[in-house]
Amino acid sequence: MTILLSTLNARYAHASLGLRYLLANMGDLQEQTRLQEFVIGAKTTDMVEKLLSHQQAGEKLIIGFGVYIWNIEETTKLVAVLKQVAPEVVIVLGGPEVSYETNEQHIVKLADYVITGWGDVTFPDICKQVLQGPKPLMKVHAGVQPPMAQIKLPYDLYSDDDIKNRTLYVEASRGCPFKCEFCLSALDKTAWPFDIDLFLAEMESLHARGARLFKFVDRTFNLNIKTSLKIMQFFLDKLEANPEDPVFAHFEVVPDHLPDALKDGIKKFPPGTLQFELGIQTFNPEVQALISRKQNNDKAAENIRWLCEHSEAHLHVDLIAGLPGETVESFALGFNRLYALKPHEIQFGILKRLRGTPIIRHTQEHGLIFDPHPPYTILANDTISFASMQRLVRFARYWDLVANSGRFAHTLPVILGESPFEHFMALSDWIYARTDATHRIALEKLAALVAEWLSTERGMDKEQVAAMIKSDYAGQSIHQHGPDKSAGKAAVAKTATAASTPSRQARHMAA
Ligand code: SF4
Repeated sequence: MTILLSTLNARYAHASLGLRYLLANMGDLQEQTRLQEFVIGAKTTDMVEKLLSHQQAGEKLIIGFGVYIWNIEETTKLVAVLKQVAPEVVIVLGGPEVSYETNEQHIVKLADYVITGWGDVTFPDICKQVLQGPKPLMKVHAGVQPPMAQIKLPYDLYSDDDIKNRTLYVEASRGCPFKCEFCLSALDKTAWPFDIDLFLAEMESLHARGARLFKFVDRTFNLNIKTSLKIMQFFLDKLEANPEDPVFAHFEVVPDHLPDALKDGIKKFPPGTLQFELGIQTFNPEVQALISRKQNNDKAAENIRWLCEHSEAHLHVDLIAGLPGETVESFALGFNRLYALKPHEIQFGILKRLRGTPIIRHTQEHGLIFDPHPPYTILANDTISFASMQRLVRFARYWDLVANSGRFAHTLPVILGESPFEHFMALSDWIYARTDATHRIALEKLAALVAEWLSTERGMDKEQVAAMIKSDYAGQSIHQHGPDKSAGKAAVAKTATAASTPSRQARHMAA
């Protein structure tokens, strides 16, 4: 008998941490359990063939699928074909996308069993019942959440190939104590830490095996400062011991909570080794109150400014358009306020209705209309029409291409001038009117469009524009924030860039 753990990852570079947790916790079933990961876009019949190739003649096959917002449609197709070709295969579903509104989903009708919530203990239990009997009576099982000490850490299951070629996701804690209504973590009500010494011992082994790129999926890295400092010290020790072969760490951080002790640690990281994702989401206090997001805006802004000016951390700051109560104008104010702080990237997201999140309580009062298909993006609300929302969606896409890509570092401030949101929206509308496209715009074409807009719509000198774009385009630009950085640190940056720094950040750092 074989048990397969499978999922469709968004990219090859994303190694599924969830599947590895399940495998680590299979107990005496681990020996006959295998991982079979796919990447979105793979042909359904090829995936079915691959999965069935693990089945021995006359033996039972159980397949557990990790179902997420990005793979629900393709996983549904996959399970449908699988059940046609091999109806005897037992399908068990788990993951956030099937943990709520479970019975309304087509994929659930096709499957044999579903685990909602945590699967670490419940998945092996269900497998045992299927294999040894008596068979589970219910189709849907609420996943048991065990004490954290009972969960086996999965990091030795990252293969040498994973370590060499893929992003390694790690977590020192699960859950979040905050209650932002658009977020699935709002349902957790608290955070649960893993034993920090055990966790760091696992990081030590990963590092010894060659791992250099660590992406923390903890929702709030800076919640417990004592723990954050220990984790940072681990990486600082590695950087000090191996300056020629540096590590790179990515953390999600609450922006209004940066005590001095943490700042002292952050300051010690050289360029190209530290990245923070900070969620601002909205600077509008009325919207924050509506969606139960507690955030001290002044403190958050002060901290972002401090990080830009006094640290080498690469900053991604998230904003969400389409929240209840937010108008285009109030969003624009927030965008301009954030841009003035000069983070390296503004991640401009559009509100999505994640299954189970409390945001839907505003549906009636604020006229929230969501796309019924994944990823359930908001289409309109009582303050933003469908047409305006479409303009915001295009803004987000072009912002990624022009600003976040780091490819127009000299030109971007000229495009944005004194009114970043308004000017970029004008550029976005203009590009769309000219191209009818938001995807598959080659860099050369984009550069030509930006140049044309600056000269025809903003009246700039053509030759000046051409020279500026050329300097960006030739990769000679630098996306720099804060004061000049020391020459010594720049030397480290070059090494870091070569080895572990993600390409976009490397471009922002490129001199
Ligand atoms: S948005 Fe961030 S802080 Fe708010 S509930 Fe989600 S994870 Fe927690």
